Amino acid sequence: MLITEFLDKRLKEDLVGAAITPPHPEWHDRMNHSEHLVRVIATLRRIVNDHSEGYGPTYDDRPRQKYCIRCGSGDGNGEVWPCEEVRLIASLYADHPDFEEGWKV
Ligand SMILES: [Zn+2]
Repeated sequence: MLITEFLDKRLKEDLVGAAITPPHPEWHDRMNHSEHLVRVIATLRRIVNDHSEGYGPTYDDRPRQKYCIRCGSGDGNGEVWPCEEVRLIASLYADHPDFEEGWKV
């Protein structure tokens, strides 16, 4: 499974969970807890989208390399895909059975 597929599924699950989260007792007059969780999930999804995979140039002596369009340069010397930011978000779900060891930060 790709890390992006994994994160898409987990964030959708969290969104469902946020919809049934009871109001936080201290947040009465401001935003409720469910709304806050929806914002957190939307922010995480935006970060994942900003760190999408790109493809570097082709060299004769090595295969084309995937890189993060935000963190990497694609020249083979930058951060490869998935970058630390995406793996860090995935690590929120490290206890999920589909989480892969190679994604650990
Ligand atoms: Zn990145």
